[in-house]
This record gives sequence, structure tokens and C-alpha cells, in this order.
Amino acid sequence: MTRKHKLLLLPGDGIGPEVMDEVRRVIDWMGRQRAVGFEIADGMIGGAAIDAEGTPLSDETVARAKESDAVLLGAVGGPKWDTLAFDMRPERGLLRIRKDLNLFANLRPAVVFTALTEASTLKAEVVRGLDILFVRELTGGIYFGKPSAIEVLADGTRRGVNTLVYTTPEIRRVARVAFELARMRAGRVCSVDKANVLETSVLWREEVQNLHDADYADIELSHMYVDNCAMQLIRNPKQFDVILTDNMFGDILSDEASMLTGSLGMLPSACLGAADTAGRRLAVYEPVHGSAPDIAGQGLANPLAALLTFAMALRYSFDMIADAELIETACRDILDEGLRTADIMEAGRTQVSTAEMGEAVLRALDRLAT
Ligand code: NAD
Repeated sequence: MTRKHKLLLLPGDGIGPEVMDEVRRVIDWMGRQRAVGFEIADGMIGGAAIDAEGTPLSDETVARAKESDAVLLGAVGGPKWDTLAFDMRPERGLLRIRKDLNLFANLRPAVVFTALTEASTLKAEVVRGLDILFVRELTGGIYFGKPSAIEVLADGTRRGVNTLVYTTPEIRRVARVAFELARMRAGRVCSVDKANVLETSVLWREEVQNLHDADYADIELSHMYVDNCAMQLIRNPKQFDVILTDNMFGDILSDEASMLTGSLGMLPSACLGAADTAGRRLAVYEPVHGSAPDIAGQGLANPLAALLTFAMALRYSFDMIADAELIETACRDILDEGLRTADIMEAGRTQVSTAEMGEAVLRALDRLAT
């Protein structure tokens, strides 16, 4: 009996539609080969939506996103829309969908594929087998706290103000996501803060610890100062399993960690909301990379980040762990075979186009599924 999951695809701009085409082929494959089907709807976001609908994200698309089991996004932006007013820019579509769906937990895996170990700027033995999952709080903290302003003082000088604020519920809901995900992994959470200086961080640390002691005593919890974490990520990144942290620290540390893996074209991400009583959570899945206007339309885009993003949706929205692992293994296998898109090309490997990479993934899936 085939179950239908509702997926909304928002390919967006630049290489977004190109990499999404490869995702569609894998979705079709899933429908044919596995006991699961997807009900696919298409929508617009970013520059494509500005051109067709006059806004970077329409109310109708938001409503459809809320009705979907998961949203898969390509990428937004490009030079064509760079001169528009800030409120009309393609990136506003991204911010709006996260805000309107109340997606407070940002998941950013940093995984090093064995075949790409040499692509990292760190020594191979430091990063080989690396598998970290960042859980970053996304809707609170200093990026959203009020007051925020630049003021002119009486003496004519200026003062910039931002407010770092977190409440118990904001901390506990994202910490809960981190603990739940750790249960699906190696069972360790490192909570990162600056509790030696910031009151907000003292509260963060206490609330995370309290939630752990009450509901997640089976998880190994540690706390680390953010400056130490920045160093540890370079010194010994494999000590980490799940890293839980606030909005600004997570913004910086997850980008630092993503560079341990060597390539932007390989990195998936997810934004999750709260689970309802039936266990369903709103979620948007997107590759970390942007719309790459410099290579759009040339068949040069690496589709693996988008395919790994789909695998994340299978794992976190649909509990289809075996199917997610199948896609991840297929991606790993074709890298082991030596196939590379231009962004990860090395001497002695075979360079392929976006579509050829997608076809190779399908062939690997066929092999793995038999
Ligand atoms: P980018 O991620 O688009 O590109 C950075 C570099 O990485 C480029 O040289 C690009 O060719 C390369 N690259 C990125 N993804 C690749 C892939 N899958 N395969 C091969 N190479 C890849 O970042 P940028 O150039 O700073 O931004 C371009 C546009 O994308 C801007 O309009 C920006 O606002 C937007 N952007 C969107 C998102 C998003 O949609 N989530 C994220 C970042 C940037």
C-alpha cells in the first residue's frame, strides 16, 4: 500500500531549478522502487516569484507550505533583483517562510565524505569521518531582540544597540530538538554558550541542563564556551556529535564547520518548527549554497547538496531512515567511483555535468536497492 507524503517544491532562482530537477528524478525513483509515494506541488519563491507574482513569497504559497508535510527549497537571488528595495528582494522570501512557519530550529550537518577528505583545508586525519549536526536557534536572540537601533547622541556621536534576549520556552523547545536528534545519532549533545560573561547564556545553560535532567538523562550533555568551541572545531572536530547553540553563535560556528567539509555544493540544511499533537512538524529543507548565478544554466551545478537535503527530509519529516541512508550511500558511492562536478573536481577524477551526476545517483540507487 503506497502512502502519499505532501511535498511542496520551491526551486527558486539560478541553479535552484537545475538541482531541483535532479531531486525530482530521485523522488520519481522512490515512487517506483519503494513503498512510498509523494504528492508533489510546485510553487515559486525569490526572484522567480517576484517576476511572476510581484512578491518574493505570496500568501498563497505560504498557505500551501503550511499544508505540506515538508517544503523543499532550491536557492534564491541573483543580480537581476539586486537593485530592488530591501523589502522586495528575493531573500525576503526565505526570511518570510521561516518566520510564517515559525521554524525555530536550524539543522546544519557537517559531514566529510571519505572520497572528499582531501578537499578540506585541514589534515585528512583531523576530518576523516567527521559527522557533526548543528542545531541552531533561529528565531530569537540578538538578531531579533528589541530595542535595536542606531541612535544619534546629544554630542553628535552615534550609538548602536542590539538586544540579546532568550526566554525559557525559546531555549527549551530548541534544546528538545537537539536531544531528540541526538537519540537518532551517537547520543551526545554539546551546548555552546558564553555563560562566563552573558546572563542570557547563564539562563541558556541552566534551562538546557534542567531539561536534560528531567527528560533526557540518557543523553550525554556537556557545555562549552563559544570561544573554546571555535578552537575545538579546528583542533579536534570529531569530538562533537550534536552541537546546540543560539542564533548568532550558531550562525558563525556552523559556517566555520561547513568549511571543514571543503565544498558548498555538498551541504544540506533544514529548518524545523514545533511538533503538533500528532507529531507533525512544519519544515523547510534547503541546500546551504545560494543560487550561484556565476554558473547557472551551464550544467555545472553540483546537485548532491540538494539530494542530501531531500535525504534529510526523509529522515526528519517522514522517519524514512533507511531511504535517507540509501540516498546518502548512493551519493557516497559515486564519489568513491571518482565522479565529480566542477566545484569538487580533482586531478585523476572524471568531471560530469549536473544531469550526469543525477543519473549516476539513480544508477547507484538501482544497484543498492537490488
Ligand atoms: P553562492 O552559494 O550562490 O555561490 C558561492 C560560490 O559557490 C560560487 O562560486 C558558486 O558558483 C559556488 N557554488 C554554490 N553552490 C554550488 C553548487 N551547488 N555547485 C557548484 N558550485 C556551487 O553564494 P553567493 O555567490 O554569495 O550568492 C549568490 C546569490 O545567492 C545571491 O543573490 C545571494 O543572496 C544568494 N544566496 C541565497 C541563499 C539561499 O537561497 N539560501 C544562500 C546564500 C546566498
